[in-house]
Amino acid sequence: MSVSFKKIYGNELSKSLFAENIENNKLPHAIILEGDRGSGRYSFALNIAAATLCTALEKPCDRCKNCRQIFEGVAPDVTTVSLPEDKSTISVDAVRFIKNGAQSVPVEGDLKFYIIRDADKMTVQAQNALLKILEEPPSFVVFILISENVNLLLSTIRSRCCTFRMQKLDDAELAEYISSTYPKAAGLQKSDESAFNRIIKTANGCIGSVLDNLDKRRFTKICDEYTVVKGILEALSKSDKSDFMRYEDELSAKREDLKESLFTIRSAFRDILAVKKGVSAELIFFDSVDDIKRISKNFTLSSIAFALDVIEQTLNSNEQNANVNLLKINLMNALWKCVH
Ligand SMILES: [Zn+2]
Repeated sequence: MSVSFKKIYGNELSKSLFAENIENNKLPHAIILEGDRGSGRYSFALNIAAATLCTALEKPCDRCKNCRQIFEGVAPDVTTVSLPEDKSTISVDAVRFIKNGAQSVPVEGDLKFYIIRDADKMTVQAQNALLKILEEPPSFVVFILISENVNLLLSTIRSRCCTFRMQKLDDAELAEYISSTYPKAAGLQKSDESAFNRIIKTANGCIGSVLDNLDKRRFTKICDEYTVVKGILEALSKSDKSDFMRYEDELSAKREDLKESLFTIRSAFRDILAVKKGVSAELIFFDSVDDIKRISKNFTLSSIAFALDVIEQTLNSNEQNANVNLLKINLMNALWKCVH
């Protein structure tokens, strides 16, 4: 038998390590897949389960009963635990549910899987409960923890897991893959190349994000956000503080939306930093170096570093459920102070 992950693009090293482990029946019992949203972590987790439980010679085949059930989300031996839609954390009850299920042997094969999406959203109590299971895992259970940032997991959990980081694609690879695989994307590339490029840039190397971004409403939001962030930077480069501060209203008061705006502002400052330092890096936010030079005439290297710090701090406070309206005001004031 042989294992190959044909449906997973890139990530060659991780794919070959998992293939070897599965072929030799040596899959680790606790795995962390770390990466950005849309980087294919969940899809990879399902493919690992399918490659293990598939009954064909070339695994995963996508056609046998086990593969089909896994990809349809109805396999008896593959359970996914996700963040409830109306909650911001995964509670200890969810881990108790896993603990109870993990005691019984698999229905079909030799192994059963628990995939925990948003694992870094587990409460400390939930993580401690999971730790107890990881300390003495049943021999027939594999845990796959999906995380955006492993540093939010207890170090005791991290030390018991093998961590794999999803690889990001560069813009050219992403554009080529997307336009050759999805006709809708190819159509957009032909009809409106700059819109297509904006979608690619915003996706930050993640295939799933491009697919999300192709959704019309989302695409409109990205274009709006680009306009707002560009406006913020233009106003920041001038001397009228009240004109700059009015952009606070343009930033969303929703926590998740503010997070995305902060990522966009951070990308813009990183572009500025690269150009100021004379580093030839691919631009993430701006379309041209001329735009950056015009906007950042009065920015010094230290003011850019301060601004990046302010953005990181705001992202952290946002994660820790600080009041969003207060965060927006503080962010705008702090950014102004960085430059003026
Ligand atoms: Zn199969």
